[in-house]
Amino acid sequence: MDVAYHSPTTSWHALSAEEALDRQQSHPRGLSDEAVAERRRRFGPNRLPQARPRPAWRRLVSQFANLLIVILIVAALGSLALGAIVDAIAILSVVAIIALVGYVQEGRAEQALARIRDLLAPSAQVLRGGRRQEVPAEALVPGDIVLLESGDRVPADLRLLEARRLRHQEATLTGESLPVDKGTAAVAENAELGDRSSMAYAGTLVAQGSARGLVVATGADTELGRISALLGRVEPLRTPLLRQLDRAGRVLATLILACAIATALVGVLLHGSPWPTMFMAAVGLAVAAIPEGLPAIVTIGLALGVQAMARSRAIIRRLPAVETLGSVSTICSDKTGTLTRNEMTAQSIWLPEGEFHLDGIGFAPEGAFHRVDNGETSPAPLDLDDQHALRHFLNVGVLCNDAELVHEDEAWRIHGDPTEGALVVAAAKAGLPVEQTRRHHVRHDAIPFDAGRQYMATLHDMEGSRRLLVKGAPDRLLAMCHRVRTERGEDSLDLSLWEQRLHALSDRGLRVLALAEKPLSSRLKLTDEHAESELVLLGLVGMLDPPREEAIAAVAECRAAGIRPVMITGDHGVTARAIAERLGFANTGRVISGHEIESMSEAALIDSVMTVDVFARATPEHKLRLVEALQSCGEVCAMTGDGVNDGPALKRADVGVAMGRQGTAAAREAAEMVLADDNFATIVAAIREGRKVYDNIRKTITFLLPTNGAQGLAIMVAVLCGALLPVSPLQALWVNMAVAVTLGLALAFEPGEHDLMRRPPRKPDAALLDLFLLWRVIFVSTLLLLATYGIFTWIHDMQGGALEQARSGAVNMLVAGSAAYLVNSRYLIQGVLSWRGLFGSRPVWVAIGLIAVIQLAWTYVPVLQRLFGAAGLAPMHWVVILATALAVLLIVEGEKALWRRRA
Ligand code: ATP
Repeated sequence: MDVAYHSPTTSWHALSAEEALDRQQSHPRGLSDEAVAERRRRFGPNRLPQARPRPAWRRLVSQFANLLIVILIVAALGSLALGAIVDAIAILSVVAIIALVGYVQEGRAEQALARIRDLLAPSAQVLRGGRRQEVPAEALVPGDIVLLESGDRVPADLRLLEARRLRHQEATLTGESLPVDKGTAAVAENAELGDRSSMAYAGTLVAQGSARGLVVATGADTELGRISALLGRVEPLRTPLLRQLDRAGRVLATLILACAIATALVGVLLHGSPWPTMFMAAVGLAVAAIPEGLPAIVTIGLALGVQAMARSRAIIRRLPAVETLGSVSTICSDKTGTLTRNEMTAQSIWLPEGEFHLDGIGFAPEGAFHRVDNGETSPAPLDLDDQHALRHFLNVGVLCNDAELVHEDEAWRIHGDPTEGALVVAAAKAGLPVEQTRRHHVRHDAIPFDAGRQYMATLHDMEGSRRLLVKGAPDRLLAMCHRVRTERGEDSLDLSLWEQRLHALSDRGLRVLALAEKPLSSRLKLTDEHAESELVLLGLVGMLDPPREEAIAAVAECRAAGIRPVMITGDHGVTARAIAERLGFANTGRVISGHEIESMSEAALIDSVMTVDVFARATPEHKLRLVEALQSCGEVCAMTGDGVNDGPALKRADVGVAMGRQGTAAAREAAEMVLADDNFATIVAAIREGRKVYDNIRKTITFLLPTNGAQGLAIMVAVLCGALLPVSPLQALWVNMAVAVTLGLALAFEPGEHDLMRRPPRKPDAALLDLFLLWRVIFVSTLLLLATYGIFTWIHDMQGGALEQARSGAVNMLVAGSAAYLVNSRYLIQGVLSWRGLFGSRPVWVAIGLIAVIQLAWTYVPVLQRLFGAAGLAPMHWVVILATALAVLLIVEGEKALWRRRA
């Protein structure tokens, strides 16, 4: 067998398209399934070698690069030098446990993110055996014919076979940031990479136009594969919140260190205590006050949020978005496909001869045509045999069109743009042979549709002459038409009559398209000037695209949550308003069009942007201005986008949201979040999740800090008063680990509070630890301090118990008090004294159950007793400890009630 097609040295750019096809033993209609399977075995998947993930040892070592851990290690070494071997070993084991927990959790978070990235694996449109299909980019083989459209990321190295107005952004490969023109003509063999205009290289972006290309290299054989073996970088796990916590951690560590040293000095100088004892006290203070488990728990909280969002079909590309989502105050959304279903059905056709109604919903080509007179639809189905104008209109709709109607898996589906699909379905309902019409009237050239241009044009031979067919936004097309085609020939165009008809269709919430044509003798390539004047109007078609049910509910939820939904659509203002009203938007009285935005000054736009919810006939450039205006009003914006030109607006928005299904690769890469189902409701679900994650992190911090605070204070007070330490350093370490890892983690799993989506968005600049939280930390620290000291003094001084027993009592009091406070912490302000509040969270009770068993073991198992210097407690002690814990719970509830009263 001739294997020329896998020679890596072929200069594909210098071969003609035919030669290239020959060498690849391929065909313009694509490879057969057998050939694909054979080549797949030979060349393997079209995948770039992955960057190796951060090696395990580096991840482990990085766990120790933390001031708090360093303090602990110094404490352990100091203890060792003083002969406190058990303490040293225990501190070191805790350090090891913290590092290990951090290591495992970080690994899991990284894996979770990597799995989510896989959900975004790119796909490609190929022709195989003459049929257009979508396959994962990985499944491409040399010889495949790939179809490209503007916004696509090129999936493999291609020799272009056909190119229409094609421009590529090749910065990834050549560093050139301006798009370059592409064509099909062969270029010199020694041309530089950037000058090989007959090639489309893997990893570059189609900035404009459409093309068809032959795969000549895949995977590591591509130019991209050659220059870099390092793609698929692992996203760093640091987010603003984590960095804020890191900073807070450093301040806290310094503060704790200063307190520890000062306390020890007071002990030695003022009370004359021996310095080794005071060193151990300082160590105790440090280990007691440092919240060792906090960073791990926050990372877990974020990772859990990302996973929950992925489950509800919102895929986070950049971790910080999880936090930003919680403070979003405006969602700027496209209409078609996001707020509506994008299941277009042509319902009405308006020709000079009158209006026609089409039966049926969806893409099934079943339904009759009826005449409409004075708004009344005639019940009798129309015989289309003598409706020449209507048949001509439908044929034009099918020719100036790239969509295909297919019957797959027992359902009718559209491959391509649903707006175009609706026209194919309409023609099929009329019994027109779509495939045959397309074969008969070959397309000589085309201007593809784009949101800025708002029309599409194609060139065909029809009725004996060469003709330009145009379809597009009616207001745009009407301005380009000068006559109208009737049964009798051509007539002059009555603009106001057609505008009335357009208005009538739009008012029903229909998306309207106009069709037009003109003879074009020129055999030259089409230019925009050809299409933009002297067109002959054929008629209008109105398409129904119903709102998504779940979007209606999501709009209501947004409004309750103080988030304003804003529609920015390319569609007509009247259609947009009708749909916005059905969706329940608030301010639909005024609609601003793209034209108006252009003529408005910055100040005028800022004035209007807060009171208008619908922007119509808007292009991606308008989106950018709108985001900027909203942001300068202090809004935090989420912005959806799908097109190649949406990139700047998506990047500028606080949370750029790309469409996973309809969207281009360019939009996905500019976005922070991708919607797997293109659904508006998914954005709202992600916001709810974002608010929950932030809430839970705040709750975890408010829960953890008081335990540390109480222990630190207890040791400090003891030393300053020259009294006995109520908790030994080792015991403090134990409490921290048990409380943080077991109890604190439970809060990361809290379901959101019931009013999560009924409060206004969080201010983006609000501090994580605000005055309220600071107060709560100090208040509960003091409560726990009093309880711990109380039990210690009671057992040791009043009952004459041994030091071991008194400390056992103190430790168990701290843990029990923390467990009670864990229940309080489920809601920061709301009361928990209800069945749901007390018992509504399984993780909380599992954690409390676990900690009870662990503490009993700690108190009574001899090995542990010896290790931690503990002793058994009497039943009476337990009764008092549990009663005090209950009192802590009630007192904190009382404090919350006072806050609620004040609010
Ligand atoms: P959005 O998704 O932003 O809500 P849209 O999808 O409704 O917007 P565009 O795709 O920008 O808007 O389309 C703008 C207008 O162009 C439409 O109202 C329609 O009249 C016309 N149009 C849409 N698709 C096509 C197409 N494939 N060919 C010709 N004209 C089209």
